[in-house]
Amino acid sequence: MSVRTRYAPSPTGMLHVGGAWMTFFNWLYARRHGGQFILRIEDTDRSRSTEYYEKLIMDDLRWIGIDWDEGPDVGGPHGPYRQTERSTLYAEAADELIRRQAAYRCYCTADELEAERAAAAAAQRAYRYSGRCRNLTPAQIAAFEAEKRRYTIRFRTESFRDPARATTGGWLQARDDGSGPRVFVVVPDLIRGEVAFDLADIDDFIIVRSDGGALYNFANVVDDHDIRITHVMRGIQHLTNTPKQFLMYGALAWTPPAVAHAPELAGLDRKKLSKRHGDTSLREYRDELYLPEAMVNFFALMGWYPEEGRELFSREELMRRYDIAEMGKASPIFDRQKLNWMNGEYMRLAMQQEPERVLDLICGYLARHGLLPAEPTAMQRALVRRVLAILGDRVKVGADVLTYADFFFQDPPAMDDAAVEKHLRAPGIGPFLTAIADRLDALATFTAAAVESEVRATAAAFGIAFKVVVHPIRVALTGKTIGPGLFELTEALGRERAVSRLRAGAAIADRD
Ligand code: GLU
Repeated sequence: MSVRTRYAPSPTGMLHVGGAWMTFFNWLYARRHGGQFILRIEDTDRSRSTEYYEKLIMDDLRWIGIDWDEGPDVGGPHGPYRQTERSTLYAEAADELIRRQAAYRCYCTADELEAERAAAAAAQRAYRYSGRCRNLTPAQIAAFEAEKRRYTIRFRTESFRDPARATTGGWLQARDDGSGPRVFVVVPDLIRGEVAFDLADIDDFIIVRSDGGALYNFANVVDDHDIRITHVMRGIQHLTNTPKQFLMYGALAWTPPAVAHAPELAGLDRKKLSKRHGDTSLREYRDELYLPEAMVNFFALMGWYPEEGRELFSREELMRRYDIAEMGKASPIFDRQKLNWMNGEYMRLAMQQEPERVLDLICGYLARHGLLPAEPTAMQRALVRRVLAILGDRVKVGADVLTYADFFFQDPPAMDDAAVEKHLRAPGIGPFLTAIADRLDALATFTAAAVESEVRATAAAFGIAFKVVVHPIRVALTGKTIGPGLFELTEALGRERAVSRLRAGAAIADRD
């Protein structure tokens, strides 16, 4: 049977890096085995699901190169692929469960249930539904219907409690530790091994709401079965749903898919990944110029640990080599520094192999930061090209462009107060900068080498050490103390801007 995996996002927000990471592994597994990857939209929570997020999620998935063989936009033989469009299937499955006496209508009102809950809380017991509607007589049902009471549909977990029914070896197992037989749902998890859930802890849970809408857990089972999903890999937070899902599969005489519950990502401090560690939407990474190939490589190394100690792998290589069994139980560490390094490596490669792509990305980034118009002129693009050549390896992520090169795109440049105080407001700097400005203004050819020799000559004339003078010049030209090579950047700024910035620097230096 061909491997079929899926991603089943609820379109209630942006795709986070954690979700993208998990999706990547599902996709990779399908591709690794020549199977299919399916996108299904779990929009049963109608109040929070939006078409807007659905589109953004799809767009972000495509951006990291995750494609799907079946899905709401591309269709497929098991569609529709949006839960809100699949309600007939859930209704049929619910009817089938009732017919098999594996589910029943529960007419309890919200107040009645609340009273049960309050009683449990008062007695300091964990709440479990009393089972009041579990065995209603036809007359009781007729009476409730006559009252026009609304009903939910509950799963009859009770029907699995008989140890005689539990086979040994299957996922329903009777175990006896000496205190009498107890029935367990034993989930064979591909990552965790067997995980046993005591049936005594599972209630007669609701599968259909009183408005007729299927609950997530139930719809998920019907869909995974109907769409013929063979492997479900998802976050550990879904592990507790799994025994209930297995019960539903069992009651419908369906075979559950293979399941794997991946650990949560953690930050370098080994705490659960949060926004502080970089658990933000994938789009934020995209906006910060992380490249999809870097994200994918980084994702792969959080859960797959190649022996050779190498870290850079192409998508094709990953597709050939990845194995689900290598994902351990320990939380992979999301190391932002490593991601930045990796992005820098891919950025360097892209600059060599696809310079126009990088140019487009950087222009877009500068435009988003108000430093270029959305449609830059040919001259502006030429400047960006030049700046990139000067920056070279310094650009690992978008922020580096601002750190090292914003002054190329701002007139006047933003001045760092501390740098101004330290390097411009020193004695003798004003006349020195004016002298350099004059000499650069008079230069025959404005090149980095010519600029350098003028600076050296002026420093000698003023009797100031060369290594000292570079700082005020840099601060005057760029507003800061760090950046690319001084003479190259001066050449790239051009005579007019360089001279006027040096004069402005001199004015600051001379100010009382
Ligand atoms: N809709 C669920 C979620 O977004 C997916 C659950 C599953 O993968 O089974 O978390």
